[in-house]
Amino acid sequence: MTSTAPPAPPDTLDIRDLTVVYGRSVRALHEVSLQVPAGGIVALLGANGAGKSTLLRAISGTLSLHAGAIESGSVAFGSLDLTGLPPADIVAAGVVQVPEGRRVFSGLSVEDNLAAGRLGIRGWGRRSEARETAGQVYDLFPVLAERRRQAAGLLSGGEQQMLAMGRALMARPRLLLLDEPSLGLAPQITERIAGIIRQIHDQGTGVLVVEQNAALALELADHACVLDLGRVLLTGPSSELSESDRVRQLYLGDHSGEASDQAPRSEPRALARWAG
Ligand code: ATP
Repeated sequence: MTSTAPPAPPDTLDIRDLTVVYGRSVRALHEVSLQVPAGGIVALLGANGAGKSTLLRAISGTLSLHAGAIESGSVAFGSLDLTGLPPADIVAAGVVQVPEGRRVFSGLSVEDNLAAGRLGIRGWGRRSEARETAGQVYDLFPVLAERRRQAAGLLSGGEQQMLAMGRALMARPRLLLLDEPSLGLAPQITERIAGIIRQIHDQGTGVLVVEQNAALALELADHACVLDLGRVLLTGPSSELSESDRVRQLYLGDHSGEASDQAPRSEPRALARWAG
């Protein structure tokens, strides 16, 4: 299937039978297949150690920085095979990751952090394009415009998350990879970040989001995929997964133990937080 299947449509992320190892002893992903349709939004769920970050690393070409490697399978973006490409080429292809933990350059100003998002991009030196893109980022995150000359290290956690997202957007991605965007943020800030992710998606950018906050992820995404010990446990439309007893019990804080496929459905408790 890997070699004979037709290439995916343009801007579709197509992961097929991906197996990833760290060193000789850790097999972190086992034959994982997943698609993010062009302009779609897909959530990746799973407990600690399920392999979510590993999958993002495999897509963004950064596995080798963590002593990991693709053992078999493939990652393609449209007709372009990303497997084995260096990270800069993957960014140039339009696939850009916002790392977990924000990782802004704390000693640099907000605007220099944004400028860093264009390093290595073809045409990055074109000032007009850089200015236009920065303008779009500031429109999306007005607080960054207000603080453009401040050192990034002085921003709040939520603002640093916005800056990390803004820096990724400077590369004009067609697919954005988000690793735990709500990690460590207060619910109000998380809600703002969720709104911004929706806006980015509405502007036509595909999104693959890794989230421990399953309620948030399922509210945001069209489709979701649950990883468990490096394998795909469940996959399907978010609406279906958020009604699945297994997902509700494992990831949405439904400990009633009474849910069954026959039981009358009520709104999952955690999801209700994000409704409206
Ligand atoms: P978390 O939310 O805790 O980050 P995750 O779902 O992102 O979890 P991964 O970080 O991808 O999971 O880890 C998947 C498996 O690979 C785990 O067993 C983990 O211990 C292992 N692993 C991750 N990074 C490395 C590494 N650099 N070297 C060796 N093993 C690793």
